[in-house]
Amino acid sequence: MTTQFSDLNLHPDLMQALEKAGYTEPTPIQAQMIPIMLTGVDVIGQAQTGTGKTAAFALPILQNLIPGQRKPQALILSPTRELAMQVAKAFETYGAYSDVRVLAIYGGSSYGRQISALKRGVDVVVGTPGRLLDLLKRKSLDLSAVTTLVLDEGDEMLSMGFIDDIETLLDATSLRRQIALFSATMPTAIRRLASKYLNEPQSIVIKDKQLTVAAIEQRYYVVNQRDKLAAITRIFETEDVSRALIFARTRAGTGELANALASRGFSADMINGDLSQDARERVMSRFKNDQVKVLVATDVAARGLDIDDISHVFNYDLPDDPEVFVHRIGRTGRAGKEGIAITLFTPKETSMLRRIEGYTRQKQTKANLPSKSEIQKKRKMQIVERMEVWLNRGRYKNELEMVNEMVEAGHDPLEIAAAAMRIVRESEKQRPIESIGEVREWNSRRDPSGSRNSRNNRDKGRGRKSVRENFSTKRSHEAGMVRLNLDKGRSDGLRPSDVVGAIAHHANIPGKVIGAIHIQDQQTMVDVPEQFVDQVLSKNGTYRLRKEVIAVERA
Ligand code: AMP
Repeated sequence: MTTQFSDLNLHPDLMQALEKAGYTEPTPIQAQMIPIMLTGVDVIGQAQTGTGKTAAFALPILQNLIPGQRKPQALILSPTRELAMQVAKAFETYGAYSDVRVLAIYGGSSYGRQISALKRGVDVVVGTPGRLLDLLKRKSLDLSAVTTLVLDEGDEMLSMGFIDDIETLLDATSLRRQIALFSATMPTAIRRLASKYLNEPQSIVIKDKQLTVAAIEQRYYVVNQRDKLAAITRIFETEDVSRALIFARTRAGTGELANALASRGFSADMINGDLSQDARERVMSRFKNDQVKVLVATDVAARGLDIDDISHVFNYDLPDDPEVFVHRIGRTGRAGKEGIAITLFTPKETSMLRRIEGYTRQKQTKANLPSKSEIQKKRKMQIVERMEVWLNRGRYKNELEMVNEMVEAGHDPLEIAAAAMRIVRESEKQRPIESIGEVREWNSRRDPSGSRNSRNNRDKGRGRKSVRENFSTKRSHEAGMVRLNLDKGRSDGLRPSDVVGAIAHHANIPGKVIGAIHIQDQQTMVDVPEQFVDQVLSKNGTYRLRKEVIAVERA
């Protein structure tokens, strides 16, 4: 039988607030945690954001508050300002009909307001450890009356280096207080903290939410580290991304990636621990209001970020821990919507894939990056779609006049339209599709020159010159030869005979002069004598693999 809020013996004021909030029944963590916390024992809750853990500790705290005391009776430690504000707001929601004063305390905002609020008297303090410690040292914060202490997102506070501050704050409270420790994961340092400070704690593990990633399409690409930006750009070009969260490993990484994406025409911003409170809030509201589509974040900065409708989560850099992976991708596919989680693995990191799949008990689909021609096709389609929107709207009186004048001057309407398209597409030159190198299966014992691999892939059967060299370089190692890059490869079904056939035929050069050919998964390298290069490049657009155009450029 499922537990109802009415089974939990909550105060009528709290029941009324829950009704107003529209909660019909407790979530699993609430059903398990509330009765235990009400008895006053220490607890450990292994649960992540989204499970309803805030109400799980806020309701028993509110129930046990003694009104009219001036000193804080409950202290909640949060890793970030966002989470502290969110939790304080939740206390206000659940305490809407109770006489409770809640204060959020965090760095980056004025001391004066926080100190005077403390002087007036508060019941519940929610704060980040650094600022709480400051106020404790200044004797503005008195923790002597705290009866319940909550460590929210313990693992995050740990990874942000708050462990010493937390211990100091714990030491400043009476030994008789109740402690509730919440953490999505349980690293050793958290277990150590628990065994040092918690008294025979009861444990509740809510795994369900973590593992319900079934609504999320999980896809991955294997790319070399240096090609990650080019890879994500290609994905953005072809994917319908309405709101994306990208996880990068470092603070510096978030800025670099957001700038690089913005310069490629995708509206991107970043959020990391270096931002001031104001800047952080500005970024968040731009993201929420759809002014920016893409937010690049570190794991820490993304905590407390409460945004639904994220269509894509990208793991640009892998997390070290599969639990963090699940936590990240759980930000999409919320509220019954479908979500897509895309991960970029370097060849070396693919071993982590098995661990993640084992942990989520779900397989990920390997995908190939969109080829240059697919992107070109998509770009064309987008222009046609935009044209169709305007054709439907029909609001182009001035432009029609211009066209009329040109027709009167003797131009063909079809050609005018084609020339207009040409102008529209001019901006594409600013967005060249970057080449992506072939990935090699990673093998720690591999010959570092990689020569074994290129030999295996070489076109053996056609008597073409066997050049023992590394095809990842962009220059031919043969004197007088220039290396060209074709945007089709093995995955397009390209064979050496297609390369020779297309180039020799269309550029009108003898097939036998074409040098080494190296067909990779999504592209091909071919060496051509220097004197024929211009001739080959001038016929660009005429080379085809069946009906698809093969684009040729200098490697
Ligand atoms: P939390 O895990 O505490 O961040 O909560 C996640 C979301 O679930 C918040 O938006 C809460 O308002 C909501 N929530 C919490 N408990 C319930 C409940 N019993 N019924 C419906 N929604 C809830």
